[in-house]
Amino acid sequence: MEPASELDRIQQLLPDWLAASRRLTPTGKTAAYIPGLAAAPRDALGITILGGDGKTASFGDCALSFTLQSISKVFTLMLALMERGEDVVFSKVGMEPTGDDFNSMLKLELVEPGIPFNPLINAGAIVVSSMIPGNSPEEKTERILAFFRELAADPALDYNREVYRSESATAHRNRSLAYFLKDNRVLEDDVEEVLDVYFKHCAVEVTCSHLARMALVLAYDGNDPLTGRKLIPQRCVQIAKTFMITCGMYNASGEFAIRVGLPAKSGVSGGILTLVPGRYGIGVIGPSLNSKGNSVAGVHLLETISTELKWSMF
Ligand code: GLN
Repeated sequence: MEPASELDRIQQLLPDWLAASRRLTPTGKTAAYIPGLAAAPRDALGITILGGDGKTASFGDCALSFTLQSISKVFTLMLALMERGEDVVFSKVGMEPTGDDFNSMLKLELVEPGIPFNPLINAGAIVVSSMIPGNSPEEKTERILAFFRELAADPALDYNREVYRSESATAHRNRSLAYFLKDNRVLEDDVEEVLDVYFKHCAVEVTCSHLARMALVLAYDGNDPLTGRKLIPQRCVQIAKTFMITCGMYNASGEFAIRVGLPAKSGVSGGILTLVPGRYGIGVIGPSLNSKGNSVAGVHLLETISTELKWSMF
């Protein structure tokens, strides 16, 4: 079936699928530990699916803006790989899922050599932020923003000041992770400067269509099918997508691989970025989170669509 006609069919089906998934929102909660996220509309749910020919299927609260949060970690990882190379990146961060919460400290002390297990947990992403080239936190942030803007095809993309400030003011857990890493000499730079870069890339504000556009580049192995430009080396995308399968949905990644079967990354804002290889980039928002920190309705919606359309890669 041609992707275009599949998208037309999906567009017809989305209203019913969304209504069914939206019923789950009362079972979750918005992320309260970052004050700037707590007030997000709990019952919101939206999705945008973008094809390589530029056609979309979209429904629900797609106009809602939200912050990338942990979704940004996939892209800072690729930037670090592009700028520093695999050997440098993987000397400071591992390749294995933890099975623990995304902000857990447990294994840092428990398992030698004390480097974060992977780049998608907070400890790993903070280390990755320290690897972004630049002489100051401002330069590093600008480098990251330039990369995100190019991928999202939106030069106006920026971070949300209020969410950034509210996370920075309350990030006791991330600070303790970062100081621990500094003590272990995994982190060499100034802790507050690294965290400043990290909080800002987590606070980049997007909509579902930005996520779908960024995901489309991953679906096409680093090429932007809408402009024909090569934006990311294939190897970096391959590494990122593998981490998305093994660690992208935190300690629910195994379940997501079984139920949905697509590379994905979620954030505590309730966003999920996922893709169908060679076909679609997908952005979802649903701020009500389950106990693992994933969008409760968003995961349900993706499971429905993937099951109905047989999208699982496995
Ligand atoms: N900025 C958030 C944090 O560091 C990102 C976490 C997430 O989305 N899981 O806690």
